[in-house]
Parts: sequence; structure tokens; C-alpha cells
Amino acid sequence: MLPGFTGTVKYDEPMNLHTTFKIGGPAAVFIEPDTAECLQLVCQTLDKEDAPFFVIGAGSNLVVSDDGLDCFVVSTQKISFISEETVTDTENMEASFLLHCGAGLSMDDAAKWCADKGLSGLEAFAGLPGTAGGALFMNARCYGVSVSDVLVSAAYLDSADGYRLKKYCFADGDWDYKKSPFQDSSKVIVSADFRVREGNPGEIAAECEEHIADRDKKGHFSHPSAGSVFKNNRAFGKPSGQIIDEAGLRGVQIGGAQIAPWHGNFIINTGSASAEDVRQLVDYVISVVKAKTGFVLESEIIFV
Ligand SMILES: Cc1cc2nc3c(=O)[nH]c(=O)nc-3n(C[C@H](O)[C@H](O)[C@H](O)COP(=O)(O)OP(=O)(O)OC[C@H]3O[C@@H](n4cnc5c(N)ncnc54)[C@H](O)[C@@H]3O)c2cc1C
Repeated sequence: MLPGFTGTVKYDEPMNLHTTFKIGGPAAVFIEPDTAECLQLVCQTLDKEDAPFFVIGAGSNLVVSDDGLDCFVVSTQKISFISEETVTDTENMEASFLLHCGAGLSMDDAAKWCADKGLSGLEAFAGLPGTAGGALFMNARCYGVSVSDVLVSAAYLDSADGYRLKKYCFADGDWDYKKSPFQDSSKVIVSADFRVREGNPGEIAAECEEHIADRDKKGHFSHPSAGSVFKNNRAFGKPSGQIIDEAGLRGVQIGGAQIAPWHGNFIINTGSASAEDVRQLVDYVISVVKAKTGFVLESEIIFV
């Protein structure tokens, strides 16, 4: 065992236990460091050994291969600290707060923690199953709010510099719809700082509940899935889900993977879906939509 490391290490760990799609063969080695320091130790050690590794949060945007992953998988999920710091906004003379979140904290937990403390800003992310690290990486967008709208800074391990700990300060030009500066690199996000402000605890909690109830109504939690499968594209003039609905694809099934009968942009695992089933279904939707409309849908879910 690595001196100084605390956390868990598992061999041939089934990845279907670590993805919301409940799909994926075994990872050769699955490591879950307990702390940010241990995460850095693991990354630096694997880097020195030239051992390839993949970082996973809640696995809520992933389709992991049925053959599994012949590499190390490093999970951030135990790095789930949260705290707030008061900062004075001198321009508006208003007290605002910085929320420090560990990369492995679920955005849903962050939103609920804020609601309990009467802090407003993350309500839109209530019910999002992803972690803070995954949400930054994906620039998750919920109910009209993107992570980039609330992000102030982040701490990350720089793969180009021996996984040294560095600070990223938000810069508008780095971000776009579902695009983050972390997607073009193998930087490992350790924590994120979000801007929140004082608000009415009852109203904040009510808004969180409203979003969770809406997700529930839309069937987000009824079957294993990875959320929306295709990105929206303004040029299409309507949401991807509507385009898929209009192409008559709701309910279409390949193996155990099915386009949700109630939502065109959701693929669900009906029980025994393989990654290959999902891939074939995604390719099928892309080809039918292209043939019927000329639009080329872009997958949002990541095949690993
Ligand atoms: C029911 C349901 C509803 C959803 N609703 C929405 C929604 O409303 N809006 C939305 O945008 N998405 C939604 N999603 C998709 C998903 O939750 C988001 O994309 C989320 O941000 C992914 O976070 P994660 O921790 O699960 O990341 P993972 O799926 O584990 O990883 C996704 C990518 O991020 C990288 N990554 C993860 N953590 C780190 C880290 N610490 N450092 C560097 N890279 C990292 C991984 O390597 C991978 O490439 C939904 C998913 C489900 C299942």
C-alpha cells in the first residue's frame, strides 16, 4: 500500500456499481481516496509509474464499456467537504458568500446544504446527481443556470506539471454551453468555489423542492439513465428531445436500452442494457434524425 494513502482500493470492480446507468464491466483497479491530499498522492504516483487512469465522480454522465476499463479508475466521491466563507462585495456593499465544495460532493447535497443555511444560488442544481467536479467538467446546466454562472474559482491538479495543486479563476471566455476548460485537458478538479448570497430559507428550500419534484415528474429517477443524451443546439430551433419525439423515436428499444416512452432525450436501462445497446441506440437516433431533418445530434453522454 502507498505510504500516506487512506481510502479504498478494489480490484476488478464492476463499474455498473458506479454509474447511474448501471452499465459497465470491471475496472482493473478502482481507487477511492479519502481526502484531496490522497487524491493528489494517487495521481502523482500513477503519473510517475506511467499508469493511465480515469477520474470518475458520480458516474452520472457515463456509459462504461461492457469490457470494463483496463486502467486505474480514481473516484472523487469521498472528497465531499463543504463550507462557506463570507466575502464582502465592496461594489454593492452586500455580504456574499463563497461556497467551498469538494470535487466529490453531489450538487444535490450542495444545494440542500445551502437551503438549510439560507444561502441562495445553487437551487437550480437540486436533484442533479453529479458531483461538483463532474458538474464543472461538463458545465452542467439545470433550469436555465449553468455551473459557469455561479463558479468563482476551482482547485485542480495540473497533469502538465506533475499534478501540482493549482487555482483556476473563472474567466468568461473559457466557458460555453456544456463546455468547460477542463474538457481539453486531463486536469483533475479537487474543489470548486461557488458564489452564493443570503436568501430566505423557506423560499430557497421551496425552489429546490420544486426542481426535484419536476425531475421526478419527468421520470428522471424511475429508471437507470445518464440524463439527457443529446446536447441542445440553438441552430435546430427546438430542443433535441422534441426533434427526437417528432421523428417518432420515443419508446424505440435496442436490447435493454430504450428511448424513454415519456421523453425523447432520455435513454433508459430497462434492466439488462449493455453499453453496446446504448451506443447502437444513440447511433440509430443520430441517423434517423439526420435523415428526417438534416440535423446532426451531438451526444452529451460520454462513452468510456
Ligand atoms: C437523472 C439524471 C438527470 C440529469 N440531469 C442533468 C441536468 O439537468 N443537467 C445536466 O447538465 N446534466 C444532467 N445530468 C448529467 C450529469 O449528472 C451531469 O453531466 C454531471 O455534471 C456529471 O457529474 P458526475 O460527477 O456524475 O461526472 P461523471 O459522470 O463521473 O464524469 C463525467 C466527466 O467528468 C469528468 N470528471 C468527473 N469528476 C472530475 C474531476 N474531479 N476532475 C476532472 N474530471 C472529472 C469525468 O472524467 C468524465 O469525463 C443528469 C444525469 C442523470 C442521471
